[in-house]
Amino acid sequence: MNILVIDDDAFVLKLLKLQLANLGQPEVMTCESANDALEALADRQQMEIVFCDIQMPGMDGVELVRHLAHMEFQGGLVLMSGEDERILSTVQYLAQAHRLKVLGALQKPITPVQLRGILQGQASPAAKPRRADRKIYSVEAVASAIENGELINYYQPKVSMCSREVVGVEALVRWQHPYDGLVFPDQFISTAEQNGLIDDLTRLVLLNALRHCRDWQASQLRLSVAVNISMSNLVSLDFPDFIVKAAQDLDFDLSLLILEVTESQLMQNPLTALDILTRLRLKNITLSIDDFGTGHSTLTQLRDIPFNELKVDSGFVHDAGDNASCRAILEASLDLARRLGMKSVAEGVENLADWHFLSRLACCDVAQGYFIAKPMPAQTLPSWIQEWQVRRTGLTE
Ligand code: C2E
Ligand code: CA
Ligand code: CA
Repeated sequence: MNILVIDDDAFVLKLLKLQLANLGQPEVMTCESANDALEALADRQQMEIVFCDIQMPGMDGVELVRHLAHMEFQGGLVLMSGEDERILSTVQYLAQAHRLKVLGALQKPITPVQLRGILQGQASPAAKPRRADRKIYSVEAVASAIENGELINYYQPKVSMCSREVVGVEALVRWQHPYDGLVFPDQFISTAEQNGLIDDLTRLVLLNALRHCRDWQASQLRLSVAVNISMSNLVSLDFPDFIVKAAQDLDFDLSLLILEVTESQLMQNPLTALDILTRLRLKNITLSIDDFGTGHSTLTQLRDIPFNELKVDSGFVHDAGDNASCRAILEASLDLARRLGMKSVAEGVENLADWHFLSRLACCDVAQGYFIAKPMPAQTLPSWIQEWQVRRTGLTE
């Protein structure tokens, strides 16, 4: 394997070279500065792994990352630092955002076990495909999708951390496009929001969610159902009345309905929104503050709006066990929920490590994420629940 190690400390270079040789990698080139490394890379583009210290005099790690991205470096990158863990993870984030393949971000001193892990390719997955490559649809196309009934609800289960029982689902809209297959909401929700279509879209999703939920109840599955609404839904004062009427028509118990609110645009009329939200709560509907911890869901909203559920954003849940900042924010958010008498939901529980970490915290009410299940069509849910009944028994620690 062609490996390049960059560090201004000659001792570290020597040590790493020796450690790598012990792991069967004699072909290691070393550079004492990022400038020398860039020259070497310009000659030998086929370098497979670059180990790079982020704190160097002259060109530092952040600058080097920028140059590597510019020259479209295709190999793996391992960042190393003797500094604060948070600086290291920020450089890692920057490198990944530049679409570089980051194999690891290691705190010095680096152990043989870590090196072996890197060499065996056990590190982070390859860069995700660019989001911008995804097609965004026109207003006319979205409007006709709503009109022609091409929007359907998928449901992602939510489980109680205490009993491991399925307690509810979140409705996530999908577009069954006649030519493009299943289209995800990030390709049409903002178009709907910005062009006055979000009200029709939300009402459609809501009605389908109430119908499905009532059908499950008829087959002895009492589940809550959460529907996403954006602040731009909260401009028509008749929104609560629409829901009450729909629930009456379907004989639906509104205490099973959760509305998840995020602020994707600036609130145009905060008083109207507050009027509507307060009335929704008076009708016994649960109000959930979604993506809590991100710029869109703030402490001010928590103070001013009568939310009774808090959903911690997946960015603080997934990998929280390995990231001290995420862990602190997750714990503080759960504590905040508890102190405010709100139910807490952690989203983005993506793997067994996330699940175990959350279980050990012992203060989160509900979990949601790919580890439990991906969003699925309504008709798949009953059979998935049967499978979960078996799987959950193996999850107690
Ligand atoms: P959200 O409300 O935060 O929904 C959670 C998103 O995270 C969903 O993406 C879900 O599939 C995904 N997810 C679930 N578990 C995991 C996990 O373990 N790891 C990761 N990385 N992701 C996970 P989806 O379905 O693509 O929805 C994206 C967003 O679109 C939603 O984010 C929500 O803001 C919006 N959206 C979806 N349906 C509606 C709707 O009916 N109305 C409105 N206004 N917005 C909607
Ligand atoms: Ca949501
Ligand atoms: Ca969310």
